[in-house]
Amino acid sequence: MTSALYPTYARADIAFTGGEGPWLFAENGDRYLDFASGVAVLSLGHEHPHLVATLKAAAEKPWHVSNLYRIPQAERLAQRLVDATFADVVFFANSGAEAVECAIKTARKYHAANGAPERYRLITFEGAFHGRTLATIAAGGNPKYLEGFGPPVDGFDQIPFADFDALESAISDETAGVLLEPVQGEGGLRVFPAEFLKKLRALCDARGLLLVLDEVQCGVGRTGKFLACEHAGVAPDIVALAKGLGGGFPIGACLATREAAKGMTLGAHGSTFGGNPLAAAVGGAVLDVVLAEGFLPRVARLGALLRQRLAELNDRYPAIIETVRGEGLMFGVKTRGPNGDFAAAARAEGLLTVLAGDNVVRLLPPLIIDETHIVEAAARLERACVRLATPAKQLGAA
Ligand SMILES: *Cc1c(COP(=O)(O)O)cnc(C)c1O
Repeated sequence: MTSALYPTYARADIAFTGGEGPWLFAENGDRYLDFASGVAVLSLGHEHPHLVATLKAAAEKPWHVSNLYRIPQAERLAQRLVDATFADVVFFANSGAEAVECAIKTARKYHAANGAPERYRLITFEGAFHGRTLATIAAGGNPKYLEGFGPPVDGFDQIPFADFDALESAISDETAGVLLEPVQGEGGLRVFPAEFLKKLRALCDARGLLLVLDEVQCGVGRTGKFLACEHAGVAPDIVALAKGLGGGFPIGACLATREAAKGMTLGAHGSTFGGNPLAAAVGGAVLDVVLAEGFLPRVARLGALLRQRLAELNDRYPAIIETVRGEGLMFGVKTRGPNGDFAAAARAEGLLTVLAGDNVVRLLPPLIIDETHIVEAAARLERACVRLATPAKQLGAA
């Protein structure tokens, strides 16, 4: 199929015409259970009534006024994010990469404001993904994403995953802080141990470093806490959010303590679209649901159920599934065969998933699912395993 779009994506030949909750309906009438959520974006599923009503109401008011005027919707959303987290101040952007970019700039500027502009480097971890702008591909360090784009933006020192000794030796007089995803998304659902994050926090405090978290994928309730770092009881200095925050409407946010953001003074940063009334209104509607009493504990409960179902599948099909890992409603199934084959088999059974690095298939259902959807997904995954299990004898044993 030819298209006028850049051919930068390997797209499945499916177009969707409708959706409801965790379901998506294709042009040809096929129904899919969506455990991809547009890569962890549709936190409330498809066509959530509160989001639709909010966006419709916002569409009848000014869409855009620029950041040269007050935007009450953005002020309210920022205050709610502050009330719900460690943060004191928020900058709104339009995407994950922009939110991370702002986080990087905030960290560098903090040290500059302290009279140490030479401290601009961030320590990052293998398997990281921080976006596709020039700075964020340099931060992520994936050679595939850097190749052909000229010299990588300077200022990132990558070390092995969760390696504390390597971290200590990587700190120099130029280090500004440490940047990581508490649960790596694209990299393959690796979870930084709580103990590591606690030690990291203490190390940052001792060495005057900023702890910068990229929670673009794992934040906004995905793991059963509003921020994934809450599982470790660790308060960061700066956090980037995006994906789940808009429930499908593009918005990104950089949250910081007032101290960490001390360098981000008048004129230090900007965005034409960031925090526009439409995005801010929809972000607020997402928070209405995600921060409602009992919602996040429910995500954690459903996550435990999904984990149990996946562990059972892992036990029954050890030749197909190597391991299962994740937190809340953010799971990775590491497959023995190509992860693409597993995802294709799941899709053939009407279950949408997302590929990740380290031969992992991601399960990222909308946070509004219930037990029946988990049971249904597990049944479809089991049929996918049956499809992939070669000899019929093996199936009998299962
Ligand atoms: C998706 C993602 C990004 C980039 O977000 P975009 O909106 O695609 O720019 C950055 N960090 C993490 C952890 C992500 O998952």
